[in-house]
Parts: sequence; C-alpha cells; structure tokens
Amino acid sequence: MEFSSKLLENAVYEVSQLPGIGKRTALRLVLHLLKQPNEQTTRLTSALVNLKSNIKFCKNCHNISDVILCEICANPKRDQTTVCVVEDIRDVMAIENTDQFKGLYHVLGGKISPMEGVGPQDLTIASLIGKVKQGEIKELIFALSSTMEGDTTNFYIFKQLEGTEIKTSTIARGIAIGDELEYADEVTLGRSILNRIPFENSLKA
Ligand SMILES: [Zn+2]
Repeated sequence: MEFSSKLLENAVYEVSQLPGIGKRTALRLVLHLLKQPNEQTTRLTSALVNLKSNIKFCKNCHNISDVILCEICANPKRDQTTVCVVEDIRDVMAIENTDQFKGLYHVLGGKISPMEGVGPQDLTIASLIGKVKQGEIKELIFALSSTMEGDTTNFYIFKQLEGTEIKTSTIARGIAIGDELEYADEVTLGRSILNRIPFENSLKA
C-alpha cells in the first residue's frame, strides 16, 4: 500500500495491529476518524488511554474492574459459596446476561495451551486453589469452552483439588462444543448452567 503521508501510514499501521483488522479496514477507519470533529477523536483516544492506565483487576476474581473489589464480588446478595470458573471477562459478561447465575466468578485469564506457550503459571489457577483451600467455597462450576485447551485446563484444576471436599461441576455439554462461550445464546447458556453435571461424569463421556 502506497501512502502519500507518513502520518497516515503510521496511523494505518497501528490500527492494522488490532485483531481481525487488515490494512484496508485500517485505512477505512483512519480516514473515517480524520473526517470526524477533533473532540470525537480526542474522546476516543483518551478513553483508550484512561482504560489502559486506570483499569484494575478485582483482587478476588480477577475480573476487570474500576475498583479493587469488583461489583459482583462486593455484592452481599451473591452466593459466595459457588464459583464459576471462566476464561476471560467476556464469559463473565455472557453468563451475567443469562441472569441465571447468582454466585461469584473466577477469571483465569486464558486456558492452558502448550501450543501457544500458556502454562498453568500464566493463569490465575494458584489464586483459585488458594481460595478453595480457605474452605468457604462449596462448589466450582467449570464454564470453559469445550475445546481441547478448555478440557485440559478443567482437568488440571480438578487434579489440583484432589483431597479437598469441594464439589466440582461442568456446564451441560452439547451447547457449544468447540465454540467460545460468548457466542452461545443467552437461553442456551443459562440452561447449561442450571443443568450442570458433576465434573467426574463429563470425564466418562
Ligand atoms: Zn471480583
């Protein structure tokens, strides 16, 4: 792509680094921004800068939050004894949208993937095991995507919990084999949480 301006080229290059954005789309977005009033572009850039410099991760569940303890963890009406284990914040949002789950979450920050060089130490697994060992949590619900990496992660955590009294379950399968949770529709996802099965049973399947 030949550019008549170095400034334009730089902006297009930076935008094209975003996932799913090719050079052509990046050019279209940059030209669009260029046409907007200055305040519009400033609002966008300062929202991103503020996000990056001020965002926090909940000290209990690792969800993205504006404060030290996220709204969900800080809510006394939530069931503190049931914890739903998810990969990232998008899954928290998807499950919250179903309105079927009143417990807390634990955000792993990804899943174990030797192919991508992600090991257990790169995720918040140690923090989860630590919380379980404190004894207040009665049930862990695994709600990871039904991919090989998701299964590996579930199983790794399950093995780490050997010797504890905790009940483990997994969301009902058949909804999103190989899919990401966030793409499941709300009704199906809500139902799969209500119809969860003991984790051991999922191993025999
Ligand atoms: Zn939290």
